Amino acid sequence: MPSPPPELPPFSAPYAPDDRAMAARLLQAARLDPAQEARIDRTATRLIEAIRTNDDALGGVEDMLREFALSTKEGLALMVLAEALLRVPDARTADQFIEDKLGQGDFVHHETRSSAFLVNASAWALGMSARVIQPGETPQGTIGRLTKRLGAPAVRLATRQAMRLMGNHFVLGETIEAALSRARPDSSSQQRYSFDMLGEGARTAEDAVRYFNSYASAIEAIGRAADDRTLPDRPGISVKLSAFHPRFEAVSRERVMNELVPRLIDLARQAKAHELNFTVDAEEADRLELSLDVMSAAFRDPSLAGWDGFGLAIQAYQKRAADVIDYVDGLARSLDRKMMVRLVKGAYWDTEIKRAQERGLDGYPVFTRKAMTDLNYVACAQQLLALRPRIFPQFATHNALTVATILELAEGEASGFEFQRLHGMGEALYAKLGEDRPDIAHRTYAPVGSHRDLLAYLVRRLLENGANSSFVALAADDAVPVSQLLRRPTDIIGSAENAAHPNIPLPRDLYRPQRENSRGIEFGERAALSHLVSAVAAQQVPAAGSVADATAAAANAAVSAASDGFRRWSKTPADKRAATLERAADLLETRSAHFIALLQREGGKTLDDAVSEVREAVDFCRYYAAQGRELFGDGKAMPGPTGESNVLCLRGRGVFVAISPWNFPLAIFLGQVTAGLMAGNAVVAKPAEQTPLIAAEAVRLLHEAGVPASALHLVAGDGRIGAALVAHPHVAGVVFTGSTEVARMINRALAATDGPIVPLIAETGGINAMIVDATALPEQVADDVVTSAFRTAGQRCSALRLLFVQDDVADRMIEMIAGAARELVVGDPNDPATHIGPVIDADAKQRLDAHIARMKKEARLHFAGTVPAGNFVAPHIFELSDAGQLTEEVFGPVLHVVRYAADRFDRVLQSIERSGYGLTLGIHSRIDDTVEDAIEVLQVGNIYVNRNMIGAVVGVQPFGGHGLSGTGPKAGGPHYLPRFATEQTVTVNTAAAGGNAALMSGGE
Ligand SMILES: Cc1cc2nc3c(=O)[nH]c(=O)nc-3n(C[C@H](O)[C@H](O)[C@H](O)COP(=O)(O)OP(=O)(O)OC[C@H]3O[C@@H](n4cnc5c(N)ncnc54)[C@H](O)[C@@H]3O)c2cc1C
Repeated sequence: MPSPPPELPPFSAPYAPDDRAMAARLLQAARLDPAQEARIDRTATRLIEAIRTNDDALGGVEDMLREFALSTKEGLALMVLAEALLRVPDARTADQFIEDKLGQGDFVHHETRSSAFLVNASAWALGMSARVIQPGETPQGTIGRLTKRLGAPAVRLATRQAMRLMGNHFVLGETIEAALSRARPDSSSQQRYSFDMLGEGARTAEDAVRYFNSYASAIEAIGRAADDRTLPDRPGISVKLSAFHPRFEAVSRERVMNELVPRLIDLARQAKAHELNFTVDAEEADRLELSLDVMSAAFRDPSLAGWDGFGLAIQAYQKRAADVIDYVDGLARSLDRKMMVRLVKGAYWDTEIKRAQERGLDGYPVFTRKAMTDLNYVACAQQLLALRPRIFPQFATHNALTVATILELAEGEASGFEFQRLHGMGEALYAKLGEDRPDIAHRTYAPVGSHRDLLAYLVRRLLENGANSSFVALAADDAVPVSQLLRRPTDIIGSAENAAHPNIPLPRDLYRPQRENSRGIEFGERAALSHLVSAVAAQQVPAAGSVADATAAAANAAVSAASDGFRRWSKTPADKRAATLERAADLLETRSAHFIALLQREGGKTLDDAVSEVREAVDFCRYYAAQGRELFGDGKAMPGPTGESNVLCLRGRGVFVAISPWNFPLAIFLGQVTAGLMAGNAVVAKPAEQTPLIAAEAVRLLHEAGVPASALHLVAGDGRIGAALVAHPHVAGVVFTGSTEVARMINRALAATDGPIVPLIAETGGINAMIVDATALPEQVADDVVTSAFRTAGQRCSALRLLFVQDDVADRMIEMIAGAARELVVGDPNDPATHIGPVIDADAKQRLDAHIARMKKEARLHFAGTVPAGNFVAPHIFELSDAGQLTEEVFGPVLHVVRYAADRFDRVLQSIERSGYGLTLGIHSRIDDTVEDAIEVLQVGNIYVNRNMIGAVVGVQPFGGHGLSGTGPKAGGPHYLPRFATEQTVTVNTAAAGGNAALMSGGE
């Protein structure tokens, strides 16, 4: 057998290049001559007219979407209802949910809008006449009357049925067999299909197997049903790689390559056996490099030679699209094989923008203006057409202008490419195209799946149909003139200067003008990740023990020296103090690799955690600098009678003692210290005894940035040294983060000293809870629970300890959470593939192991992970019969679950309240009333709705608790700095010199 050709280097391209440079190139290349433009206009106009005259052949769904666009309250309510209703098993929650959502909008607001949502719902479900709702009725009245007349179960049934119908509109069948039989009537009309098995990405190994099996049997069924036509005129299947692996992420590359590639080859071989088109769908940008690694490893498999059906989707909204095309072409060329390439614009645009902002990237991997995406789509289309026949382009779009432009680029040719549309969309457009150009093939992407699985897909489609940037939404709106739909992307962009959206700031500028966002990194960018890993590995970090513990005498001396230092530092103008902190932030960013290395070696932090921590420290410096400039500047002029001026100023209190914990040895340490310094205090900082090296390096950095040595002193040592510092008579304030017990001791010590009463800012722990009801999405819950409970080995004060799950969905939720936890890698924090590192020391391990041993006797064990030797604690999940069984904060990767009955929600709130803590709370529910009830009843410092509950961002989610969880004010919030300061009012009698000249010269 001939040996396979040498492997190509992996795909590599700049992740988020500058929009302007790209626009300059794309605008240059996009010019067509006037005759071509005129033909495009004619074709597109014909297609648009066909779309507009197509009078509701689609069973009212499009009517409904048009009526309730996503820019309206009703549209949003409808989307949320569609996303969740069908997965709610119990009637009580379903009724509550329906009432919540239908009550939010005015669904019968307009007399002429008789096809309003409830009418459709009830008419479809119950065969009733649309006259059920009379013009002019209020929504509440309508729901009430309907409920009274038909009963709540009938309204529930009607609404569910409406959601199903909406689902059916976009989904070809609940099973592949049903889909195949629905597809058959069209098979005579040259229509091609690509089937897709719906579902969220796999979160557990079982999910991955289930998805694999469902794709495998679908391929068999499609193959059996196919006739004897040849490729490309054969049906196909579209697969999502995230369905086949529970950790389809860049950092788990090795596992993914070992476990996923063989699965993909298996499926591809089956597809080959039936000569099907087999397309790997395009997913999020951070998975692109990994997807291409997997795809090319599978494609290279010699068993797939001689088959032209293998393909992938490429997203034109990604700036790397043209590079991906080059890469794919190079791959096919190197193997002398053909490939099918579906060109799409991209379905996750909103997610991409958010992720890049959260990660603090230098730029976006996607365009921020739709016209740039359109422009790139056409450029990529041109590139693909030129690569025929090695590449078989498949143009997936519902945009008539895009279709017309591609037809023009194809120069009248009809072979060697096809168009694609989604089932339930673009019917009229492609029907018209079929009439005008019967020689041009088009394929329908046909999702297959049960109602429970269609929800996420449905939301994507509703977004696409309802977003006002989308072509289908505009084409459906008769008020939008055709000329607007024909505007070329080149004209919309005009010049390269306009390539980026003016209202979407770069991630770095998210908080401008106040401050710069901290710089992050995208682990999905191989070059950036490997650069970081080698930079971290190359760091020389000081040896353990190189920072000596202080004696009590040295601690006292430090406070005295700080008292001297205070005099000078407090007189330094606020602007200069702020500039010093900003310099520190810049230095931290420049030396991030050094601090990451330290955090890993001394604090056991995983790479991801260490990067986040450095970012948080940077944000603290910049945030307090910006706040401090405002608060400590010239003072605030107060109103008063003429002839005097009144100014209120903030100034430092004196010497602040800052006592910080080991779990955020850089971020919390620097947060406390920089707040104290910005307020004009001198600071004596005592880090946790487990992490003195990081603190020492941070102090060195602040000194280098310009904080005088006399204003900032490091005193290493254990609790006794902390106690000595707190007891010192010259201390003017204490800021502490740690256990409630130690906070109480400090409080007592401060109270016992004579002299001025010293303020204490304490942030302590919590028994943090999350509530999950039946409307929540299990996959999202699994992600967020696993992150909240186990990330950082559960050693965050915000971490989830107690999960309340509605009993109707508890089995499935717990199973998925346990399955997802099973996929976490516990081990060496220096390895980027590690999800959970060690706990801080042997004492911590011993305490946690003892708790786990007790729970094994007292609670039901759902999951126990495995760990290597060392200070590792395996993640555990226990089910308690009562929340009261957890009496104290367990600072490690142990999750406690309690079930609750839907009608006892108030008890859940009571038991959270009873704990006395109030730090963080998570809620997963689509019912706004439920969320509002929890927020109203529970005085918890940080509440997170439908997301994870850790990782508060400075200046975005000011952090800190209430009750046993701390005194406030919140770190990283606008009220923090004033707590470090004292106030001074200066009143000057401006008329003291004998008269009020300003008043007298004011004129009439
Ligand atoms: C057969 C088929 C298969 C598909 N497979 C995939 C797939 O594998 N992966 C995938 O991601 N998508 C896939 N899609 C979805 C596809 O990306 C969307 O349907 C497509 O974006 C809609 O494009 P359009 O030309 O029909 O609509 P248009 O309305 O012309 O374009 C809308 C698109 O523009 C982009 N956009 C919107 N606002 C902005 C902005 N401000 N800046 C930049 N871009 C913006 C978005 O991508 C949006 O979806 C597929 C679509 C079809 C038809």
